[in-house]
Amino acid sequence: MVAFLDQQAESPSARKTAIRIYNLFGDALFYKPQQCLININKLVALKDDYKISPAIGRVLPRFGWFVLRVGGFLIYEMMLNRDKLSDRLAQFRTPKEAASFLQGNPLVESILREKAVRMYVSWIGHPDLGIDVSYGRWDKALFEMPVDGHVGKIFSRTGLVSEVIHEAKKGSGGRWNVIVASKMRPTIQEVTNNYSDDCIMVDHGAFQLGINCCSDNLEGIACDSCPRSPVCQIKSKIGCKGYCMLQDFCERNLTWRAY
Ligand code: SF4
Repeated sequence: MVAFLDQQAESPSARKTAIRIYNLFGDALFYKPQQCLININKLVALKDDYKISPAIGRVLPRFGWFVLRVGGFLIYEMMLNRDKLSDRLAQFRTPKEAASFLQGNPLVESILREKAVRMYVSWIGHPDLGIDVSYGRWDKALFEMPVDGHVGKIFSRTGLVSEVIHEAKKGSGGRWNVIVASKMRPTIQEVTNNYSDDCIMVDHGAFQLGINCCSDNLEGIACDSCPRSPVCQIKSKIGCKGYCMLQDFCERNLTWRAY
């Protein structure tokens, strides 16, 4: 459910909303999807919780995306016909095969972007993230990085990638310096594979720096000191000293934005 919701959306709001949907429908969300689908109007109570990017909000109203994604999730559950998705995914030898299985379903393919599929497979399959659907059979080195805008931004601003792919020519419109993460993914995966055999931890780490330390609009950016240090959610987890941990080698190419 979170993977369905956490696309062009504010990640914290997508995760909170998924929990609230569960609180609304209870175990029926997983065991009686038809019943939830019939009562999908109950989502109206949560419509202000879910925050999506203005870019997609121009295509369809926010509540429309909300109903489409939750509805799609419930229909997919019905298609599984009481099979546990974890059992289906555990049959595959690699995370890549599991991702292909998910993308092979037209409904999933229509709602879940490639990046979100990789994100989901990393959450449920990486041996150190708690679920480990393959019971340790999937080697960490076989995972594919999701690479969202925040991850692409960190690799671009630090100079870890030499070529930055961005939306348009310099000066041609307000979004010319927004990076195209999906096109940069193969290069970022290659650079990461040269340094680490655990690309998922690199991806998750860059994502956290991208949303907590390296703000898109540069406001309160933490290169030399972090204004959010007293209230930061990840400070203790990453042993932060009050400024960005990449400051020593980062090229600070502050031109590039994630969104
Ligand atoms: S040093 Fe500054 S520009 Fe570089 S990653 Fe950290 S916050 Fe971003």
